[in-house]
Amino acid sequence: MRCQTGHFSLVLMSKFFDIHSHLNFPDYEKDFEEVITRLRETRTHTIVVGTDYESSKKAVELADKYEEIYACIGIHPVDDPKKVWEEEKFENLVRRPKVVAIGECGLDFFHSDKGQDYERQKELFLAQVNFALKHNKPIMIHARNGYSELLDLLEPLKKERGDKLRGDVHFFAGDWEVAQRFLDIGFTLSFTGVITFTHDYDAVIKKAPLNMIMSETDAPFVAPAPYRGKRNEPSYVQEVVKKIAEIRGEDFEIVRAQLVENALHMIG
Ligand SMILES: [Zn+2]
Repeated sequence: MRCQTGHFSLVLMSKFFDIHSHLNFPDYEKDFEEVITRLRETRTHTIVVGTDYESSKKAVELADKYEEIYACIGIHPVDDPKKVWEEEKFENLVRRPKVVAIGECGLDFFHSDKGQDYERQKELFLAQVNFALKHNKPIMIHARNGYSELLDLLEPLKKERGDKLRGDVHFFAGDWEVAQRFLDIGFTLSFTGVITFTHDYDAVIKKAPLNMIMSETDAPFVAPAPYRGKRNEPSYVQEVVKKIAEIRGEDFEIVRAQLVENALHMIG
């Protein structure tokens, strides 16, 4: 069912959607309510993403408390290599009403050696993919130096599972060839504030269909211009949306509305 979160009322309420933030991180402890005030003032909604069980639980608690927040639960591939998938614990979390995705999960061979770590990461990733399929949720992918390895796992699964396998590639940093392979299996690509200070992703942002692009901050990391160097937060996602419109040479209002629509489709 697509509209259990009240699709229509959210379209009216939400002006911007940051599909990947970490408001569950300690970076916000001191001024959390001020961050939430700015979220409300800018009519921004965000998916708060877990990187292990504890931060996933925190994401769910925030989603329970704040209307503007949704939760994504899972285990990051390399943040803490000692963390293992504990399905029972996540079973309890996934039943909460505002859990909208599983992750961030994926493969990262930038921070860790592929030769030594591939099997562990693959196992952790596939456990979460199967969990997402079981609960009919999209996956939130984290990948660094691991796109082709990920696609080699996802493409055959897509053939088997069809539309049930869906997801977003968070912090997309690949070229057009990689982008196309993800688009071919129906995965969306999301972009952070990085696009406000590098042209590296302009070609992909121009070529990808607008309904396959998402806006995100990855806050507290990579604040967009003009906030570069500061702690990032979801209300800054509008700078990412502005830049996507500018790169594509399209009307801001059309791009803004479509990016909200894309996020609602993901969480619906
Ligand atoms: Zn993240």
